[in-house]
Amino acid sequence: MIKYGCQTIDQGDITAVLDVLESEFLTQGPVVHQFENKICAYTGSRYAVAVNSATSALHIACLALGLGDGDIAWTSPNTFVASANVALFCGASVDFVDIDPASYNICPRNLEHKLEKAALTNQLPKVLIAVHLAGQSCDMAAIKDLSRKYNFSIIEDASHAIGGEYNNTRIGSCAFSDITVFSFHPVKIITSAEGGMALTNDEQLAQRMQLFSNHGVTRNDQLFEQEVLGAWYYEQINLGYNYRMTELSAALGLSQSSKIDEFVTTRNVLASNYNIAFEETPLRLPFVNQNTKSSFHLYVTRLPTNTSQMQHRQFVDDLLAAGIGANLHYMPVYLQPYYRKLGFKKGYCQEAEAYAQTAISLPLHPRLSPQDQKHVVKVVCELLETFG
Ligand SMILES: *Cc1c(COP(=O)(O)O)cnc(C)c1O
Repeated sequence: MIKYGCQTIDQGDITAVLDVLESEFLTQGPVVHQFENKICAYTGSRYAVAVNSATSALHIACLALGLGDGDIAWTSPNTFVASANVALFCGASVDFVDIDPASYNICPRNLEHKLEKAALTNQLPKVLIAVHLAGQSCDMAAIKDLSRKYNFSIIEDASHAIGGEYNNTRIGSCAFSDITVFSFHPVKIITSAEGGMALTNDEQLAQRMQLFSNHGVTRNDQLFEQEVLGAWYYEQINLGYNYRMTELSAALGLSQSSKIDEFVTTRNVLASNYNIAFEETPLRLPFVNQNTKSSFHLYVTRLPTNTSQMQHRQFVDDLLAAGIGANLHYMPVYLQPYYRKLGFKKGYCQEAEAYAQTAISLPLHPRLSPQDQKHVVKVVCELLETFG
């Protein structure tokens, strides 16, 4: 099977992990901080909190922004379930803003329209979780403008997007958001096996996220509420979790982080190979905005508009039967059984549903060989022949 995505591990990564295994710390040691500092330096953000997944990072981001009971968070329907689930973890409710038909990201016009309506009924969101699908940034300037008018905080779910750029700033700089989150799951741009990171330029938010990631416990005497009782002393000052990243993960992530640009360049080359190969076909190719550089976590192509759900399903099944790990990113989150039980119904976000009925993610990762990519192209083109 030619996988749609997978990790790229070299000898340097292996050595880095082995070195940690023989060191004093397996968790909460110096390498976690080195990894955080490296990602700060790379993105230009001031603070970073490394945790055990992007889901955890999104959760502590919501908590740090004060999301709680009775609050509302909005996100894209075209995302992994975690982007929405984290709001529910906090006791908030979640709602979805339909996507733009070209970028497949949250559409600022839909967002504005929904905000206007929500303002009338006092249902404005406290937090918006903007998802950079496939590695291409959302229209953050427009979203930022709306956040000033309607007073909501912004989290960028950049799980797909480390190494990408928006308006000549690196994704993760938080120039247009309160917090940006990366995932280091093996299919993402770089990996720490499991892992994630939350970045911010706000010292208070960084401090709060740090607390939530580690039981609400601090050794910082400036935060203490009681008298210090000895050198051992620490305080729990809020209710946090154990979301800590291990030294092993940090060592892998740190080693991988020196290859972000290399991986993203390779992904862009592979994506443009596909674009050239499919130019004459009826496939709709990925659209990249002029002011963005995509990290191309995914190569999403779309079958012609009039494709039926059955034809789409058959196409993906045929690719899988030919050993090509095609995938769909994503079925709208609210069509998951769990969300349907919360009351969401088919037809809620029409662009996201139209997208899901025609989108296919083709294999794209730095280890995809030229032969394998040619094979994917050949099979896709053959299948398109039978498409009428
Ligand atoms: C992968 C992913 C996540 C979750 O990442 P984990 O590190 O596996 O928790 C969240 N949001 C999006 C958009 C993702 O692709």
